[in-house]
Amino acid sequence: MCFHEMLALARAGLSPRDYGEFCSVGYVSAVLEGANGKLYRGVNIDLACGLGFCAERSAAAAMLTDGEHIVRRIVCVGERGELMSPCGACREFLSLLAPENADAEFLVQETPLRTRTLRSLLPADWRQPAEKEGV
Ligand SMILES: [Zn+2]
Repeated sequence: MCFHEMLALARAGLSPRDYGEFCSVGYVSAVLEGANGKLYRGVNIDLACGLGFCAERSAAAAMLTDGEHIVRRIVCVGERGELMSPCGACREFLSLLAPENADAEFLVQETPLRTRTLRSLLPADWRQPAEKEGV
């Protein structure tokens, strides 16, 4: 499946809905391709008091449930179908699942198609020794 097909699938996954005043889901949709070649879908879950999580981590949870932990590609869209870049928490989350995920590609631009690796989006890995500045 190409990135354009993943993008269409992500847009089809949008399903904005509110469950009462403390729970909103489906305003963001993500499609993730695991190293096993399977696609995993997820939506955001926003709860009161700052609880919940992003569509990317929702898709990653589905992938982990299926026994895969390595990500090849990710597409994420907001409620109007616009591409979204992963937040810092999602970048960190995916990077901690497997070192190979540094090579995972995120679709960041539709036309012309442009991707970025997780490595480029998360350049200063806290697991590496800090560089000394000006010393
Ligand atoms: Zn996120």
